[in-house]
Amino acid sequence: MTKPVCCCWVFLLLGSLPAWGHRYDIAIDPRLSLLQVRLCFDGAAPTSLTSGDRRAGTYLSDVYIDSPEPAGRVSVRRGRMRLQDIAADACIAYKVSLQQIAQGRRSSHIGDSRLLDIRSWLWRPETVPASTQLHFSMPAGVEVATPWPPLPGRRHGFLLPDTPADWSGRVAFGRVRKTSVNVAGAELHISLVGPFDDRQIDEVRTWVRKTAENISGVYGRFPVVNAGVLVMALGDRYGSGPVPWAEVQRSGRPEAHFFINQNLPLAAFLADWTPTHELAHMLHPAIAWQFKWFYEGLASYYQNVARARGGQLSQRQAWQKLYDGFERGLKQSRQPDRRGSPKYMEMYWRGAAAALLADVRLRKESHNRHSLDSALSQFQQCCFAPVKTWDGFAFFRRLDELTDSRVFSSIFGKYARSDEFPDVLPVLRDLGIQVKRGRVHLTDESDWLALRTDLMTKPVVVGVQQSGGLSLPAAGGR
Ligand SMILES: [Zn+2]
Repeated sequence: MTKPVCCCWVFLLLGSLPAWGHRYDIAIDPRLSLLQVRLCFDGAAPTSLTSGDRRAGTYLSDVYIDSPEPAGRVSVRRGRMRLQDIAADACIAYKVSLQQIAQGRRSSHIGDSRLLDIRSWLWRPETVPASTQLHFSMPAGVEVATPWPPLPGRRHGFLLPDTPADWSGRVAFGRVRKTSVNVAGAELHISLVGPFDDRQIDEVRTWVRKTAENISGVYGRFPVVNAGVLVMALGDRYGSGPVPWAEVQRSGRPEAHFFINQNLPLAAFLADWTPTHELAHMLHPAIAWQFKWFYEGLASYYQNVARARGGQLSQRQAWQKLYDGFERGLKQSRQPDRRGSPKYMEMYWRGAAAALLADVRLRKESHNRHSLDSALSQFQQCCFAPVKTWDGFAFFRRLDELTDSRVFSSIFGKYARSDEFPDVLPVLRDLGIQVKRGRVHLTDESDWLALRTDLMTKPVVVGVQQSGGLSLPAAGGR
């Protein structure tokens, strides 16, 4: 099966170095306060560079043409570095104050390590040519973690993929240790920032592997062949949970970032929904923020479905957690709007409820040949190259085309255009799920028991009926 890999990954898979392209040489001082960057162009220089952050110009100093015979002019204005009459194969140099970046909130500390948003310092062409390389010079005892694929045989060398300039990415300097796990055809590259001991690193590997296995249960493989996982040790400074904050960033390659209390036991991480929710975001591409309700809902739906398939929840527990989420969302949707108080519960669970409606309708209409799983699987195979942000409606239309249906445009399109909270109770009743005093009961009173069981136990592989001999009623049944 051909995996959708970008040209850079093809170079890596072939095991050969790419041809020479633009080259960045980056040095950081031992106090982690100043970056010195030298960018040499391969052939003609672009007319301008951007960082993706309009404030990045304020962090710059000593910008100049660094060539034996410096011709041309370089100037910085309104978030753009303009290059005029620069000779072919010329170099430019600039310095970036990390202290000023910290004041601009594009930087943070984990102990004595520093985290930087790449948009604060990486000035790059609007379109990055293939084979553009970055090479870091690190002081003794300082390591670097980046969201970019490594250059083979180069300890601090990386390839710069052409993901959009305004996508966020994170680089860590300091106390960084690296490891990886292989799951279902994918390699997850884990970087740990902060004071982790060997036992804690083993435990991180265990819960990352288990979480990736959960997500692999959605359609039989992990969605991103080379994914990044950045784990940062917060200790107990931010609440009592194992993962006080997590997010996915997509510049370079999709990466899940976990800020954790590394001192809690492994069991706390295995019981937490956050890791599965976060890796579930790798099932979908970058989608415009106006559709946050959709992609957060998708991840909220799969954080329960995937944990059930992975054996971390029973079927009843998974349905209970979905029902509880729907109730929290519905309750918040009925509360008056208050400025400055986003309705997160409504947003996440409105999308999850729509995901359940779409999944069940698709399975019914296609006699279990298609599902939300198979739609996302087909999308991953045809269209997953991480080079653009999808409009939500375009994404729904593409899923409709892949499943030969109108399910996505009609259901998600409807809730994109209204604030109505989806009514899931008829679907739950249809699946033989009764609710008494808030407690979910799985009954045998349904024609759709096989569908209900399949949904929580196994993926629908495209074109393969997986009902395991259990007969499904004809489409259009109750
Ligand atoms: Zn999320």
